[in-house]
Amino acid sequence: MTTTNDIPRNMTSVNPLAGIPDKALLSTRQISQIILHCSATKTGEDFSAADIRRWHLQRGFNDIGYHFVVKLDGTIERGRDINLIGAHCLNHNRRSVGVCYIGGLDRAGHPCDTRTPAQHRSLKVLVDRLCSNHPLATVHGHREFAAKACPCFNAAEYAPPITIPPV
Ligand SMILES: [Zn+2]
Repeated sequence: MTTTNDIPRNMTSVNPLAGIPDKALLSTRQISQIILHCSATKTGEDFSAADIRRWHLQRGFNDIGYHFVVKLDGTIERGRDINLIGAHCLNHNRRSVGVCYIGGLDRAGHPCDTRTPAQHRSLKVLVDRLCSNHPLATVHGHREFAAKACPCFNAAEYAPPITIPPV
């Protein structure tokens, strides 16, 4: 298990998208929403896309429901192919990309913003790229569409700045 203290010192110099092909970040679907989630696992407990895939298969899905997973150390893993409709937000899957960070619960199991600095940075880099690749997309937290705490932070933090066209 990794803990939140294991963030590499040189994290700010690492490009978290380095291992991900450009085409895996640009969907052939028309994307109108980037939807952020937490894994609803306890702070400091690390899991991977493979773990979540296994959980989702056990729930009867045919694959992991999210397109990307952000681990505690900021590693971005690919989940479901971005060209395929996800299974992460009821009534919002067809034209969205689902991103899940590992965490979202405190040690007692209550909803909590548990993002590590590395996760925060990787979420920013990933969502920025998804937004620039899908210019019509807006950024949301799962809780905007369901009676849930997920992702336990304000997703608007990752929304691209509003650009006002020149007059
Ligand atoms: Zn969620």
